[in-house]
Amino acid sequence: MSISEFVYNGRGSRVVFGSGALVHVGREMRELNVRRALILSGRDQAKLVESVATELGAAAAGVFDRATMHVPASIVAEARAVAVSLEADCLIAIGGGSAIGLAKAIALESGLPIIAMPTIYAGSEMTPIYGITDAGMKRTGTDSRVLPRIVVYDPDVTLTLPIALSVTSGINAMAHAAEGLYARDANPLTSLMAEEGIAALARSLPRIVAQADDRAARADALYGAWLCGAVLGSVGMALHHKLCHTLGGSFNLPHAETHTVVLPHALVYNADAAPAAMQRIARALKHDSAAKGLYALARESGAPVALKALGMDESQLDHAADIACTNAYWNPRPLERQAIRALLQDAFEGKAPTR
Ligand code: NAD
Repeated sequence: MSISEFVYNGRGSRVVFGSGALVHVGREMRELNVRRALILSGRDQAKLVESVATELGAAAAGVFDRATMHVPASIVAEARAVAVSLEADCLIAIGGGSAIGLAKAIALESGLPIIAMPTIYAGSEMTPIYGITDAGMKRTGTDSRVLPRIVVYDPDVTLTLPIALSVTSGINAMAHAAEGLYARDANPLTSLMAEEGIAALARSLPRIVAQADDRAARADALYGAWLCGAVLGSVGMALHHKLCHTLGGSFNLPHAETHTVVLPHALVYNADAAPAAMQRIARALKHDSAAKGLYALARESGAPVALKALGMDESQLDHAADIACTNAYWNPRPLERQAIRALLQDAFEGKAPTR
């Protein structure tokens, strides 16, 4: 590899990793010099929230357990009011993109520091990107105030993640790393993290499929998810993320599953324009092709491989291709509507990549 000019943006999160790490949340609050935490989560994380609140004692000022997908503005307003009434001086987000997204929306206005404890592999905890949905429109943006100051990765809290969601969420994480490898602003450090992140998930997901409570595999997968999330937080994404954003936002398809289906096809589209990235992805997958390797991983793990299996209607593909070509954005291969429409057809049918 030849090294040329680059810019590397180091992000300032402190990362605490390890089995049982949730007991360190109180210590981490002291690290931030804060005393009154508002814990944010979805309802299904009740048991975990209770453990953390018990661990914190009086430092747990309150719990808001109605974090919802896409971060609705009405929920944000309610949670902000709770934070004010409790005089919270920090936010602890327990869960995935929904809980962490809610914490970010509160921090955006209040500047309260966030401690994130991810329970899934989506990667939101490592990014300064936020999104709030109001009247059906999702407003997204980047602001350093919303980047969690501390991230506590405890693989034990992922043991309850269902196998199917572990696989699709893991491949969602790999998508950040794959696009990070051909990002316009890729640099040697994010590329190292990306390749290692893909490798960690590629070797751990089949073990999780075989045995959901394999603790070593869970730790390896969460380690991979951290690296992939760090890539997402550092460099720009391209066609694959735009397609998934379009399919999720305009056609209401499920987030992680859509990433899983689309990724091999987005890589085929970009293969000739980014051969070095494809080689690194393939090497991490221990396969001779990036796209074929990811398709095989999904298929062998029982994950969906076709958009039609996610409830998409074939009549929507033209509109999806149109949206994906609007608001020009950078991609290693220029955006060609006809080829993107063909990519979507292949993804719709779940065709195996041939290269
Ligand atoms: P999510 O937080 O809604 O979680 C998905 C599902 O997994 C939920 O039903 C949740 O209850 C369940 N779950 C999570 N952890 C679990 C566990 N340990 N055991 C059992 N069930 C568990 O969604 P997500 O997949 O984490 O994130 C998707 C959302 O986050 C999307 O809206 C996406 O746009 C956003 N996102 C944002 C960023 C960012 O940088 N801002 C990054 C990634 C994703």
